[in-house]
Amino acid sequence: MSQNIIKIEDLSYSYDRQNVLKDINLLVKKGDFLGLVGPNGSGKSTLLKCILGIQQPNQGSIELFGTDIRKMKNWEKIGYVSQKANSFNSGFPASVFEVVSLGLVKKLGLFNGFKNSDKQKVTEALKSVGMNEFANRNIGELSGGQQQRVFIARALVSNPELLILDEPTVGVDAENVESFYELLSDLNTKLGITLLLVSHDIGIITDKVSHVACLNKKLHFHGSREKFKDATEKDLSILYGHSVHLLSHNHEHEEGER
Ligand code: ADP
Repeated sequence: MSQNIIKIEDLSYSYDRQNVLKDINLLVKKGDFLGLVGPNGSGKSTLLKCILGIQQPNQGSIELFGTDIRKMKNWEKIGYVSQKANSFNSGFPASVFEVVSLGLVKKLGLFNGFKNSDKQKVTEALKSVGMNEFANRNIGELSGGQQQRVFIARALVSNPELLILDEPTVGVDAENVESFYELLSDLNTKLGITLLLVSHDIGIITDKVSHVACLNKKLHFHGSREKFKDATEKDLSILYGHSVHLLSHNHEHEEGER
């Protein structure tokens, strides 16, 4: 039986009196690639903050890697790439190599030595996102999509088992989105990293994800991508409060293959 990576049971969260998350049950297993979608204000960030231990749920439990989150020590098992990551302007004075090295700080401590083996880890992480030849470039000179790859490398450098990506395609040019999803798929299938990809945009549900969750305070859907294909546009339109057209090119592509 494959290992549980995230197990959430009966989770509820309120800010003051506003109930933002209600009765969330979610199971993510090793090797899953879960796409979590929901409109703005649906509670995605709040749920992520609960998973990352930043906010304490009012009710319910969270286990990460089979351990109650309150007893969790190995936080380096989790890599996190936020939507704000790719906001360096061209004046920012750090090389790509330096930015990725920062990913080792939580493991090494700020003032401990940086060994050759650590340099090797940075190089490996850059290679795995296809950015090694940019190592000496200034981070601010790169495009949004390239910066986002560098931030993924920064998250990868401590060998996480779970990678959480919050709106990672914001700032990635439309023509590079496809190859960005290819990269995520490679991290999932070739490196075996469990992925949680979170977005307001239902377009992230490509044929690369294995599972889908739809959030709007409650989880309105959670299951395999196969099952998700049976979800109707009407269901999703209720979730989003406006009409949703499910058949993006990815879905059409997939249908054509069968
Ligand atoms: P999403 O990430 O899906 O946009 P959020 O988790 O940010 O959703 O927000 C869910 C709801 O919680 C929204 O109604 C938002 O206004 C409210 N909210 C978020 N953060 C706070 C906060 N710090 N204090 C009070 N309300 C908040």
